[in-house]
Amino acid sequence: MTENIQAVYQGCFKDLNEIKVSPMSRAYLFSDSIYEVIPFQNRKLICPQEHFRRLSHSASELKIIIDIQKVQEEVSHLFNNSSHEDGYIYYQISRGVDDIRSHIYSPDISNETFGYLTPIKFLSKSLKVGICEDIRWGRCDIKTTSLLGNVMQMNNFNNQNCDEIIMHRNNIITEGGASNIFFVIDKTIYTPKLSKNILPGITRDLLIDLIKENKISFEEGDFLIDDLTKASSIWFTSSTKGIADVTEVIDFNINLDPNNELLKKCKDLYNLKISN
Ligand code: PMP
Repeated sequence: MTENIQAVYQGCFKDLNEIKVSPMSRAYLFSDSIYEVIPFQNRKLICPQEHFRRLSHSASELKIIIDIQKVQEEVSHLFNNSSHEDGYIYYQISRGVDDIRSHIYSPDISNETFGYLTPIKFLSKSLKVGICEDIRWGRCDIKTTSLLGNVMQMNNFNNQNCDEIIMHRNNIITEGGASNIFFVIDKTIYTPKLSKNILPGITRDLLIDLIKENKISFEEGDFLIDDLTKASSIWFTSSTKGIADVTEVIDFNINLDPNNELLKKCKDLYNLKISN
């Protein structure tokens, strides 16, 4: 049993292990639920408003009506009542708990909300990755708890000690299993453009702003797996990884430089930004 993880379920704050959920929750039956992971470092929440905005967007795409004010209050409460320096708050909203299992939800169903705070150490990590087809659904821009495509593919590579995957649709790079991807060719940084096939990462956005502010050559677009053969650096971004560079791509002939100048520059800019 998990001990002393502070959580909130349906507005009641309690230990995580005291929470009981109904099997008729639409999160349980259909993954009919959305979520956010809001990191904090040195007792400061990183980009909370951006996470709340994305949660509201996910909700509106799925026509789940949420009370974002209440979400913000609960996240703040979890954060203010913890003393951990570094960690994250997970917050999930399901469409609600049904009386019967039915694909069609009842019009008067009300949200089921759940959140918890957990400490983590943000360690600068290097990644070994595999390349695979993106087998997910057509709305990966919505942050839902329906992550089976990511779960299947990441676990397929886990026995080869891979920490992440590079996914593609018809050879066009989409993103990682739990992060966005960037790569460097010569002196330019590239990342796949936003579409329904990738999640608009908060860390991705933050880094792109920094890249643009610092007038680094940068391009968003459709890129092929083959383009990676020319890359001198590849990295992933996410709220919990920050910027994590790839050191090895299995079964792929590529020479990655762990000291790549633009990788170092982006890490410095990112670390400075989140520590301010
Ligand atoms: N893509 C996917 C599929 C993810 O799960 C995540 C992590 N939430 C990201 C990208 C990165 O998003 P963020 O920077 O907002 O954590």
